[in-house]
Amino acid sequence: MEWSKCNSLLYYHGCIYVPDTSDLRCRIVSLCYNTKVAGHPGHFKTLELISQSYWWPNMSWYVGLYISHCHLCLCTKIQRCLLSGELQPLPIPEECWDVISIDFILELLESGGYDSIMVAIDSIGKCSHFVKTVTTVSVSHRRQSGKPLPSERLETPQPSTESCV
Ligand SMILES: [Zn+2]
Repeated sequence: MEWSKCNSLLYYHGCIYVPDTSDLRCRIVSLCYNTKVAGHPGHFKTLELISQSYWWPNMSWYVGLYISHCHLCLCTKIQRCLLSGELQPLPIPEECWDVISIDFILELLESGGYDSIMVAIDSIGKCSHFVKTVTTVSVSHRRQSGKPLPSERLETPQPSTESCV
């Protein structure tokens, strides 16, 4: 006996048939997959849990589709694809100031027309330059105004703005 009806519910092989109306199927999968008790068990466990009580055509495909779009799993579970290659070390610079890192300390209290500090650090000697500048400094600013950028003082740093660690 494939189909039966009891208490206005339609059964297929003893499981409640879930019609494709509203979001009933989605809610069932969500209850068996998203709840803290279920704990995102994966495709087969979720399908096994749902198929104990419910049935609808292409149920496995529907559950797989639902799980493949689970935002939490996409963000947190380990990817089972090929690993990327080993990390390669960066080439070692031959001279000081060949490679530098630059950072900005922004939105300080304004002093003498400046409200930021650009910090340039040499990757070998760890020597640092602190150059006063403005938060809104940009290359396009220089092109429009024709004036040199305040941060260009790095080329001729003043003793008071320079220090080596
Ligand atoms: Zn998930």
